Amino acid sequence: MLTVCHLYPDLLNLYGDRGNVAVFLRRCQWRGIPVRLLEVRFGESVDFTKVDFLFLGGGSDREQQLVVTDLLPRLANLRQAIEEGLVVLAICGGYQLLGHYYQTVEGRKLPGLGILDLYTEAGEDRLIGDVAVKVQVGGRSQILCGFENHSGRTFLGQVSPLGRVLRGFGNNGRDGTEGARYKNVFGTYLHGPLLPKNPAFADYLINLALARRGLEIMLPPLPDVLEKKAREVILRRLRLRGS
Ligand code: GLN
Repeated sequence: MLTVCHLYPDLLNLYGDRGNVAVFLRRCQWRGIPVRLLEVRFGESVDFTKVDFLFLGGGSDREQQLVVTDLLPRLANLRQAIEEGLVVLAICGGYQLLGHYYQTVEGRKLPGLGILDLYTEAGEDRLIGDVAVKVQVGGRSQILCGFENHSGRTFLGQVSPLGRVLRGFGNNGRDGTEGARYKNVFGTYLHGPLLPKNPAFADYLINLALARRGLEIMLPPLPDVLEKKAREVILRRLRLRGS
């Protein structure tokens, strides 16, 4: 049985990010993998070492600031789970709060969790639009596509980017990096939501979660008819070819 935890579904829920959770659950169920969903709200307890897939969506600056106060006291538990291979997907605001800090456009520094070696500073304008990113996961290259909308510019320290920007802005619109990866923690600016449009990446995350439980399974392929169509539309719009 895999346990999926959606953290703060009522606070970090921008741009349909909960679709990522729905896709993770459904793609497990279609393969007959038992899976359950825990929705954990502000102040509610959870043992992260018992979770297999943790999801943090995007949120406004105010919400980001709020949830950090709830997460800081549980940081040791979260870190332990991450070191043990917990699979985490964090989008936009959720991604930013895994870094050292988020500096608002007024210059206020909101502390982050410091799990990823990166920081974010808000700019005057927002980075908005379709985005495509080349990533190398599980020894294979994939193009992730999605939509970004953030004022934060993220700069990486000693952490690997998730991928390279092919179209769009990515972490900061300057250095060509998008997102970050540490162990099985993935941070990214790609809303969309991400997993419905990138089923191969969704399966990669499912495989990582299973492998952490000692299960090496070849997931049976799914037809992904609508998913492929959605990708075609966005890749065509971006004048990119790819699978
Ligand atoms: N603080 C974030 C920003 O840079 C919030 C945006 C988001 O999560 N979509 O704008």
